[in-house]
Amino acid sequence: MTDVTKPLEIAIVGGGIVGAFAAATLSRLPNSRVTLYEKSEGPREAGAWIALTEAALLTLSRIANIEEVQEFVYRGKPAPLARRHWKTGEVLKYDTSSFPRPDNFVQARTHRVPLHNFVLKHVPEGVIKYNHAAVKVDVDSSGAILHFENQDPVRADLVVAADGIYSRIRRQFRVNEKLEYKGIVAYRYVFDEKLLKDVDGVLDDTSAWMGRDGTWVFLGKVGLGKYGFVALIPEPPNVASDLTWNRSAGQWGISHLLEFFQEWDPLITKIIKVLPDILAFPLERAPWLQDLIIGDRIAFAGDAAHPTSGVYAVGSSMGFDDIWALYRALSETSTKSTNGDPDEQTKYNLPLSLFLFNETRKHFLQRVERQTFIDGEVKKKYLNLAKDDSDWQRRLLNTLGGLDWVKEHNVELEYQKVRDEHFLKIYT
Ligand SMILES: Cc1cc2nc3c(=O)[nH]c(=O)nc-3n(C[C@H](O)[C@H](O)[C@H](O)COP(=O)(O)OP(=O)(O)OC[C@H]3O[C@@H](n4cnc5c(N)ncnc54)[C@H](O)[C@@H]3O)c2cc1C
Repeated sequence: MTDVTKPLEIAIVGGGIVGAFAAATLSRLPNSRVTLYEKSEGPREAGAWIALTEAALLTLSRIANIEEVQEFVYRGKPAPLARRHWKTGEVLKYDTSSFPRPDNFVQARTHRVPLHNFVLKHVPEGVIKYNHAAVKVDVDSSGAILHFENQDPVRADLVVAADGIYSRIRRQFRVNEKLEYKGIVAYRYVFDEKLLKDVDGVLDDTSAWMGRDGTWVFLGKVGLGKYGFVALIPEPPNVASDLTWNRSAGQWGISHLLEFFQEWDPLITKIIKVLPDILAFPLERAPWLQDLIIGDRIAFAGDAAHPTSGVYAVGSSMGFDDIWALYRALSETSTKSTNGDPDEQTKYNLPLSLFLFNETRKHFLQRVERQTFIDGEVKKKYLNLAKDDSDWQRRLLNTLGGLDWVKEHNVELEYQKVRDEHFLKIYT
């Protein structure tokens, strides 16, 4: 238990969608002071398509009005995602939620910028400090000290590292870590729907086409009059090394896509022809953290904790869920909850809350990471052994039957499972 009733100082590193969600959520804790340190000069005005899964929408709805979310998302009809044959465009399968739920909570597509702005709207004024690039955290007996490139260090009781896939805080503790190329480049762009006015056959749904080499293409509206293009293409390392994360691949990129998709459903080529530009993302990964905490002072969230550059479209939901688990654990183990202390005297039990947070998240995340390896085996030992195209299609459909346990994960229930097991630790 912190020994005085001074506010709990929480320093969040990184102001991406997960850091912003952390600032919005943790600011609700009584007797706490939250500061978010972001290295850039202001909010990033760039980004690509993001699928908001059922899990992401549910956790967002815990701090925000879900009706307002509908204003900047798009939901394809008749189902959130149509899986199509790569060449004929025929629908092979519609993805639906595992059980009927209100429309507002069915997975949808959006664009990173409005999503980020929406979360930022929920962060109290004065919490975010831009131009603060964190370099490391030191921990001593009275707390953590966060150091920056060009600013004075600050003290905090708790540091939440949400500084993304290339997290400096994570790499401070994993000095030998190497991010490795996943063998895939994502080409993504979001543009004005008006550019499609002369294109025949544009679909009103969100569609995904998968090729036998593991290439994926996603097309669809993303809300606010925008349209999204995503292609995930297995590329040799020499192609990937010439491309820079989130930078234009320019005319080379467009020509490359046109050539690559010549044999595919002609709609894909028609849409590539109107793309104003294309951004490249050579996808990298590092092993996920087995524990999301270091001692009693540092918690990791979002891509900093699970550095994987996109998996099952759950990057944002996994990050939101990390933060929700942390918030619930801090809240419930505080004296406001255990003794009914008034807000201004609330004290926090960091060791116990970080333990509950870690227990809530680590088992689920380890299982998701394991699934990414299992999927690799399934591709090698099942999909790639198809005799012909129709055998491959049948096998592909069998592989598309699962993953609702990831996309619809309910972190609140997971938290409750952990707190029920450790009830006596919390309340006695
Ligand atoms: C191809 C692709 C497709 C994807 N599709 C989806 C999808 O459909 N659905 C989905 O939910 N997710 C998707 N994702 C994943 C999703 O984009 C990420 O999981 C999410 O953006 C992670 O957010 P974050 O806040 O953890 O990290 P980031 O968005 O990377 O934010 C990190 C922030 O920390 C700041 N920062 C970094 N270092 C420091 C420092 N030293 N000091 C201070 N600040 C620092 C950065 O400037 C940045 O603002 C996809 C990712 C890729 C690559």
